[in-house]
Amino acid sequence: MSQSLFDQFSPLCAIAPTPKAIQILQPFCAKNGVTLFVPPEFQDQTGVVPYTEKLRVHLQSIWSQYRGIIFVMATGAVVRLIAPLLEDKSSDPAIIVMDEGGENVISLCGGHQGGGEQLSRLLAQELGGNAILTGASASLKLPGVDIMGKPLQWQKGEGDWTAVSRMVAHQQPVKVVQEVGSTLWQKSLPETHCFQFQEGETSPQAEVWITDRVSLVKANLPQVCWHPRVLWVGLGCERGTAKEVIADAVRTTFQQYGFAEKSIAGLATIELKGDEVGILALAETNNYPLKLYSAADLNQVSVPNPSPVVAQEVGTSSVAEAAAIKAATLETAGETSLVVSKQIFKSDHGAVTVAVARSPREYIGNTGQLYLVGTGPGDLNQIPPAARSAITKADVIIGYSLYLDLIRPLQRPGQIIESYAITEERQRAQRSISLANWGLNVAVVSSGDIGIYGMGGLVFEELIAAGWDGKSPKVAVFPGITAMQAAAAKLGAPLTHDFCAISLSDLLTPWDVIEKRLTAAAEADFIVGLYNPRSRTRTEHIKVAHRILSADRSPETPVALVRSISRPDEQVILTNLKEMLEHPIDMLTVVIIGNRTTKQHQHWMITPRGY
Ligand code: SAH
Repeated sequence: MSQSLFDQFSPLCAIAPTPKAIQILQPFCAKNGVTLFVPPEFQDQTGVVPYTEKLRVHLQSIWSQYRGIIFVMATGAVVRLIAPLLEDKSSDPAIIVMDEGGENVISLCGGHQGGGEQLSRLLAQELGGNAILTGASASLKLPGVDIMGKPLQWQKGEGDWTAVSRMVAHQQPVKVVQEVGSTLWQKSLPETHCFQFQEGETSPQAEVWITDRVSLVKANLPQVCWHPRVLWVGLGCERGTAKEVIADAVRTTFQQYGFAEKSIAGLATIELKGDEVGILALAETNNYPLKLYSAADLNQVSVPNPSPVVAQEVGTSSVAEAAAIKAATLETAGETSLVVSKQIFKSDHGAVTVAVARSPREYIGNTGQLYLVGTGPGDLNQIPPAARSAITKADVIIGYSLYLDLIRPLQRPGQIIESYAITEERQRAQRSISLANWGLNVAVVSSGDIGIYGMGGLVFEELIAAGWDGKSPKVAVFPGITAMQAAAAKLGAPLTHDFCAISLSDLLTPWDVIEKRLTAAAEADFIVGLYNPRSRTRTEHIKVAHRILSADRSPETPVALVRSISRPDEQVILTNLKEMLEHPIDMLTVVIIGNRTTKQHQHWMITPRGY
């Protein structure tokens, strides 16, 4: 079940005209299903597709087939090649240019709507280079006005997008009027930004509307409009009513009430209509989900216009209104309201009833993904590229506040960041699952490796408790360097022989179990890494561990106390069993105790490979 972090850009292609470029891109393309175009003279290389015409001609033929094109060429040459092909930023592919060494990855065109900025960030991370982004919102650390609704699948409505984006770039006050949909996007903006407009203090220079309505209050300012998908359309119809008739009824209703059809989340009706061709066709053409409810379920919804005639026919006194309300109602979020009560449309071609309910939360319609990411001991250089890419790709990052601070440089504008206190692990797990179930890509981060005394197990436990089918949300785990490995690398090679890790925290494990494991490790002569060795309240455990591990080992056995490894306040103390308790040990320390053969040489700690 391999899954590429580049799926969102598929189909993607690269053009590599030289052997070095092919060499750099070939593994990346093979791993991520990216087509690698090369000149005919290199057609013998594995995994490549030769272009037989001139590159200019070839480009013309592939232009509209790919969502992104990566060029390994001089920027000037690329500009000349693509100039005649550029049409519109909403439909052109993202154009990326990089040097042969993969050091600089430039987002040249389609940075926002084509996803080019995001593609160059991910590609740069994959190749260990820099993403070069020159758009104004990237440098202001703001999500682009023309893409800010994408993670929540808001639909773009009317507006002068260029003019509003210009005002953002000029850092002019921009008024945001959000009537519906999630406000999560507002929570992680930089400390100061142009959306902080306060009524009365300054006058806004542009407006961003986030609404399910079409007729805005016209202002003498550039305006744009995003439509979150919050409206559920409840439908009833006579058997055999044509799709066009139903679509007309919906359109007329929306026009009459001033609602945007782009804000339609989906359709809802009674189970009996699950095979109604007109409704099925309307759902399919527009890619609307269709929710079906039993008569008994619908009968329980209280509606303004119940009909005894309908009740007699289908066993519930309301179809359209009840189905709309039911579809819009979520267990966890705010209140649902019926915004259009039952409208009846009769014609020679059938009869349709339409009702519309507004959901407190927008429909996203994606299968969310959970990335469980270990962010290593501290230094960003100790995070593997795949883990970095997962962090960059995520719509939401959830973690303990200290670790979120450490990875701040990897965050990108527009990401939703949710930080929690150290004790709120279960809340973190539950929140990440709920956001992924909603349809977002969520990265849960833990320091070190997420599967070693980290959030990994907890997220799986919560998923299983919630009846997870193992597939949805999708889960991918990204390994990190655990504290014990990072410490060992600082010390030399203390873990060359059999070793184990034991956590001295008895918050989730009974102390007698911990003691048993310490005793077993002592008897088996394992090298031992002690995690969570001492907290403010748990001061005795390390003394007990010391006593147990000293039983069969010489007082001279090397011990390392490694604190805040690979963070600015890193501290390494190399001591021995006899003296270890005389040194400070706290929750930021990992303790490594050698086995009977471990030696100290100068400031190195080494365990020989064999006995
Ligand atoms: N998932 C983490 C462990 C979390 S448990 C990992 O794989 O490293 C927390 C304990 O890990 C701390 O009490 C400490 O013993 C150890 N630890 C985590 N980061 C550390 C660091 N940078 N330096 C030293 N010890 C660390």
